[in-house]
Formats: sequence, structure tokens, C-alpha cells
Amino acid sequence: MRKLTRSNAHFRKASTRLPLGVASNFRYWGDDETIYIDHGKGARVWDIDGNVYIDYRLGYGPIILGYADDRVDAAARDGQRVGGVFALSTEKEYEVACRISKMVPAAELVRFSNSGTEAVMAALRVARAHTGRDGHVVMEGGYHGMSNVVMWSREFDDWQPGQPEPPIEPYGDGIPAVTKQLFHLVPMNDANALEDLLREKRNEIGAFLMEPIMGNCCAITADAQYMKDVREICDRYDVLLVIDEVKTGFRVAKGGVQELYGIRADLCTFAKAIGNGYPLSVVAGREDVMRRIGDGVVHGGTFTAHSVSLAAAARTLEILDETTALADIEASGRRLQAGLGRILDARDITYSFTGHPALMGMFFAKAPPANYREWVHSDYAFYDALAPELHNQGILVEPDSREPWFLCESHNMELVDETLDKFERAVDITLRKLKATNNQASSNT
Ligand code: PLP
Repeated sequence: MRKLTRSNAHFRKASTRLPLGVASNFRYWGDDETIYIDHGKGARVWDIDGNVYIDYRLGYGPIILGYADDRVDAAARDGQRVGGVFALSTEKEYEVACRISKMVPAAELVRFSNSGTEAVMAALRVARAHTGRDGHVVMEGGYHGMSNVVMWSREFDDWQPGQPEPPIEPYGDGIPAVTKQLFHLVPMNDANALEDLLREKRNEIGAFLMEPIMGNCCAITADAQYMKDVREICDRYDVLLVIDEVKTGFRVAKGGVQELYGIRADLCTFAKAIGNGYPLSVVAGREDVMRRIGDGVVHGGTFTAHSVSLAAAARTLEILDETTALADIEASGRRLQAGLGRILDARDITYSFTGHPALMGMFFAKAPPANYREWVHSDYAFYDALAPELHNQGILVEPDSREPWFLCESHNMELVDETLDKFERAVDITLRKLKATNNQASSNT
């Protein structure tokens, strides 16, 4: 049995100085379950108790090659020697911008920030400036960072189809109520819902901010037809299509999710995989829209285009663009899915996968949900029971099934096969435990 003795002790100490004992709410998994990491290398991480895991979280996506990748770290050290930040620009910005434009045709012009949150904030500001409309539409179940204008959602737990939609609520306390006026929601894969909303509020809405593969909602995936309709509807109502590629960018294809769908956003945002873990984000898009920056729109920041992050991004993108890294990740992901399928088939467990092999959701149902409403009413109890057993076996996945599994270049075939052995054991333990619980419940009734 895996021990978290040191992590538990550290949690008690850290909680005296850090709310929840962590630096991000999502890293708190419970007083006795919160893990503290010692280090990562390749696709493995070691916690402070010495437990080693094959990691399928990868920091929620930034790690695309592997932790502490020697090639990227050497570039970052060169970037360190440059000096960090100067409140002036360096030549490297142009080099990285050119690489991004080459890989992502929609990225005609590029600006850098530090986090996905900042890139999305910038995209929405540019969209507001360009259209003269302050409102934006987001997809139910979507997550676009920590800024107030996107931290709203609808909860469908007590809702049934046919009933009036639940109210839009803030993600938590401290989100100013006034920002709700800007925010609108539609379900994924329902083009009529988008069109109805835009028809009704055409004077208020300037942007549709969305992910064709929902990086924070089990990689639920848009139909190709839906994406075609979305592009047409946005054009018809003169609304900018903002594709948030913070998770999909430089991961699911060299040209991101836009390449997979053959679709071009007006604006797009990137962050996670761009620097293999070094913090850099991007807002990019159509030249006429992006030229608003500097022509009325303010964009910048003290740490923007830090020399270490830029150097890391230049090297990471070079590798992704010029080697088979992404194809290799996809092949590992396909082998993993085939193996998981064999294990589940052998036990008569129904399943389906969503998203892309490099960013995949797993469902214990024949067909995956088409949107967040359907996910809420899907049965994810088996996943919830399986995740802790996977942790005990040394496979690190998010306990919440809404977070997809991520693969990186270091998830080679041997690691995939090791994962499959451990997955099989975890499934059998989970089935035994669930059977025991059911037996107990029926003997109590
Ligand atoms: N957009 C998407 C799609 C994301 O998944 C995230 C983070 O998970 C963000 C934006 C925010 O990025 P960051 O956490 O770097 O601020």
C-alpha cells in the first residue's frame, strides 16, 4: 500500500502558511491525500515519500516532451544568460512568433503573455475592441482561466432535460456580479443554441470563446459539422471565433486543434505545451484584428517574453515542428487506448474514449457525452473508484474524471505497457471493492 506519511506531515505544516497547504486550489486533494512532489523526469514523478508514478496529468498539460527535458533545459540555461526581462524586447520574440505562425496559419500576428489566463484576457479585450461589443459566449463545462469574466457556469446536477435551464452562477466567492452581464453560455454540439443566442443578443456579443476538444471537461469533442456551423454562424453574426488552444495547442497536432478540424479561428490562445513547462502564453490571430493592439488596445506585462521562457519555447517548438514527437505521442496514446480497451473488454466493462490520444477522456459508457449537461448525468462512479487505485499502483491521473489524461514524448511503448499492467491490477481491485460494497449494502437491506 502506498504511504503518504511525509506528504501528510508536510500538508499539516504547509497549511499553517498557505491556504489549503498548496499554491493552487486544484492541488489540494484532501487533508490525507494531498501529494507533494520531489521531482519529475521524463514521464515519471517522485513524491516526497519516494512513491514513483507514471504521470498522465503532466501539470495539466504543459509537459509535452517530458519533465526536465535535457534539450529544453539547455536552451533555458542559454535564456538565463540573456538576463531575464528588460522592459524592452529581444530578437527571440520574432523568431518564436515566426515559428508559431508557421505551425498555426491562423496565428498571423502574435503577442506573448505568461499564463493561459492572461492570454484569454487579452483575446477577449482585443475582441471587444474589434467588434465594439463587450459580451462573450462560452461553452458549458468550459474553463478558460481565472479572470472574472470567464468564471461563471451553470450546474446541471438537479436539472433534467425539458426543464428551464439552471441560472448562471459564479465559480466561487469574490467574482464581481457585474461581470455576469458579459457572460453567456451554450451547450457544445448544439449549433441552434448558439444561433438563437446570437440572434437575440447580436448587439451585445462580440466573441465566442471555445475549445473544440474540451480540455477541462473529459475532452468532450465537437462534431466536425458543429465546428463548420460555428464558423459560419460567427461569420454571419460578425462575432469573432476565439479558439482557446491553451490545452490543445502544440499537443494534438502541430497546428493544434484548428489543424485537426481544418478550421481557422479569428483569435486563438496558447500556453501549456509551448515551453514544455516553462511559463509562456500567446494570443494570436487575424492580422486586422491583432493590429488593434497598439491601435487603442493595451497589452503587456513586466514578465512578458521572459528570456528563459522564450528560449525554452523556441527549442520546444523546434522539436515539435521538426521531429516526429507529436506523431510518436499519438502512437503511444493509441497503443494505450487499445490496451485499456482489451483489459476492459475482458471484464465486460463498457467504455469509450474522447478527444485525442495525446489528451483523452475515458468514459464507462458506450458513447461519450456530447456536452457538459450529458456528462453530469453520465455514470462516472467507476472512474471515481478507479482513480485512487491507479494512484496506489503508481499511475497518476486526476481524481476528477473531467480532467483528461495527457501523454508526452517520454510515454514510450515500455511505459505504456507498464501502465497497462498496473491499470489491469487497479481495475481488478476496484471491481473487488465495489462488489464487496454492494454485497455489504444488500446484506444490510
Ligand atoms: N484556457 C484553458 C482551456 C485552460 O485549460 C486553462 C488552464 O487549465 C486556462 C485557459 C488558464 O491557463 P492558466 O492556468 O495558465 O492561467
